Amino acid sequence: MAESTLDPDSLIAWQAAVAEADRVNIFCHCHTCGYEWVTSVHQPPCPQCGGERVESIACWQFPDD
Ligand SMILES: [Zn+2]
Repeated sequence: MAESTLDPDSLIAWQAAVAEADRVNIFCHCHTCGYEWVTSVHQPPCPQCGGERVESIACWQFPDD
């Protein structure tokens, strides 16, 4: 009946897990050479070509559509 209701402790744990995932698991895509990788560092230069045109997306945040 209350499946979507999280108790406060569960909600806090979930938020911490999301924050951790965002911090350590960022998907990067280089617009210069097309290289793709996962990193914990926000928007680094591309390790393949050193290009600065890097798009970074938190892995849990991919759009649904
Ligand atoms: Zn590159």
